[in-house]
Amino acid sequence: MKDIDVLNVLKNVIDPDIKKDLVTLKMIENIKINRDKVNFDIKLTTPACPLKEKIKSDCISSFRKYYPNIKPIINFTSEVINYNQKSIVKNIKNIIAVSSGKGGVGKSTISSNLAVGLAKLGAKVGLIDADIFGPSIPTMFNCENQQPQIKKVNNKNIIIPITQYGIKLLSMGLLIPKDKAVIWRGPMASSALKQFILDVEWEELDYLLVDLPPGTSDIHITLTQNFPISGAIIVTTPQKVSVNDVKKSISMFNQKQTKIPILGVIENMSYFSPKELPKNKYYLFGKNGGKDVANKFDLNFIGEIPIDEEIMNSSDNGFPIVLKETNVSEKYIDICKSIARLIVVNNIK
Ligand code: ADP
Repeated sequence: MKDIDVLNVLKNVIDPDIKKDLVTLKMIENIKINRDKVNFDIKLTTPACPLKEKIKSDCISSFRKYYPNIKPIINFTSEVINYNQKSIVKNIKNIIAVSSGKGGVGKSTISSNLAVGLAKLGAKVGLIDADIFGPSIPTMFNCENQQPQIKKVNNKNIIIPITQYGIKLLSMGLLIPKDKAVIWRGPMASSALKQFILDVEWEELDYLLVDLPPGTSDIHITLTQNFPISGAIIVTTPQKVSVNDVKKSISMFNQKQTKIPILGVIENMSYFSPKELPKNKYYLFGKNGGKDVANKFDLNFIGEIPIDEEIMNSSDNGFPIVLKETNVSEKYIDICKSIARLIVVNNIK
């Protein structure tokens, strides 16, 4: 058996998301043939690939069909594809905008936990808190008193982000005194955001999440018109009144000049399950509001997060809940996997 025979077998295995075979997608590496054993690596496009087991069993089946006496030994590696190679942010593989129609729906809580979740799955993650009117990321990451350092590179000021729980963080809130937020509206905030993306020692990032202010603002326009955004996530609560606000966010991302792909909708505070009756779900803010919005605008419904005291306590104490192993953390991790998958599928389109 030769390498080409191995590749021919693997040409029959299709990546379920991208719908192309593993060989065409250049996912097979390091083939080593040793009598009746074949070792090879499958390079996934995201460390968060939820379809690993399916891909593995399809490879085994394909060998069984064409070379029943050969035993494949499969190792998984991953590399998030860099679609920004030629852009101004070539070190940042994917920028993800997290947005909401209204304030207080849990956008920052979701952004923090997605950042930690993606990192937990093996990705290199950065998070910008661009919500200057209610910056909460420094509290959620217990770094309110830290200031990002500045260093000079070729006579230019470069910001060194804060690193907390493996995430590289920057918050506009750390730069702006709380009582000055209002006068920071408009051009100042926009130019600060540009600096936060371009003049920062991010090094290599698989995902840079940007926690945007609620609604639509100059900051949204700056982000969407100046940077390649892999996708936007819209956070909402189930209340019907949120729908109209979400609609505005959607039309902003859909504008002809910018046309940012919307990865989908995450519904926060979907229901409440008391500890003593964990199977019971009480839909305090209405049922299926997020799903209905997603259906109405033909968007993916990425997932739902219940109302949970521990989410709030963890955030307040500077420790996003995904750092712990809980049922809610699993929900967040599933959402992270879906997001990583949606980005791959979108990028390949
Ligand atoms: P936003 O960024 O949309 O303004 P935040 O993320 O700051 O909202 O959340 C607002 C408040 O709601 C915070 O106190 C946060 O801890 C709490 N919160 C967010 N999501 C949940 C949830 N699923 N369960 C309980 N409390 C939550």
